[in-house]
Order: sequence, then structure tokens, then C-alpha cells
Amino acid sequence: MRLALDEAGQAVRGGDVPVGAVVLSPDGTTVLAAGHNEREATGDPTAHAEVLALRRAAARLGEWRLTGCTLVVTLEPCTMCAGALVQSRVDRVVYGARDDKAGAAGSLWDVVRDRRLNHRPEVVQGVLAEESARLLTDFFRTR
Ligand SMILES: [Zn+2]
Repeated sequence: MRLALDEAGQAVRGGDVPVGAVVLSPDGTTVLAAGHNEREATGDPTAHAEVLALRRAAARLGEWRLTGCTLVVTLEPCTMCAGALVQSRVDRVVYGARDDKAGAAGSLWDVVRDRRLNHRPEVVQGVLAEESARLLTDFFRTR
């Protein structure tokens, strides 16, 4: 989560909301990929931290299935990212702050643990939640 927080800080430079994500290898010892929000920086509506980190991890492994991997993100994933997490077959999603307005991993929706889907990653929430949330409130306060 510390690495994800570092990533989140980099988003601000491009004018993006500070959210960062990393993908860990199945044994948890290697950071396969990292990403931060780049929507403003790249003009890409899908350039959320999680999607970018998943794409990079898949490119590094040479396949789309990220079975066994863990995605760590500073903010609860939105519906798009929750869908991408299910599609990527990650085993575990760890997030920091809850997103009561748009969260899709336990708050507003729970897409990642929807029993109608055939893959449901384990969810761990609230890891360094205060630090993750503080980055966001500081960012929006300066806007
Ligand atoms: Zn998202």
C-alpha cells in the first residue's frame, strides 16, 4: 500500500485525482506493475490506476490471466475497475479508502464479490485508509 500511495502522489503532477495501484506477484514478493490515474494526462476515460496496473502486469507476464496476483489500490475501485479486476482473475483486491459515492467493492455496489459472476476475488479493505483518503481531500481542497 505504501507503493500504491507513492503512485497516487504521481497522479497529481498530471492534474489527475491521486489514486495509485500496484499488482503483486502470486507469491507476494514482486511488484509486477504500478499505475496511477492518467485520465487528464492522457485524455483517456479508462485510464484509472487499476486498469493501467492490470494492463502492465498482463503485458509483463505475457498473458491476460493474473491468477494468484493481488491488486493493491488506494481507493475503492469503481464499477469499470471492479469489472476489470473480475476479468483479470486476480485472487485478491486490497484497497485503502472507501468510496461511498462510486465504490464497487463493498460500498455502493459489490461487483467483485457478486455471486452471479464466476470469479470473485477476495477483498481486503481499509488498509492505510486514512492516508489514502487524506491524499484525496488535500487534492480536492486545492481545486
Ligand atoms: Zn476505476
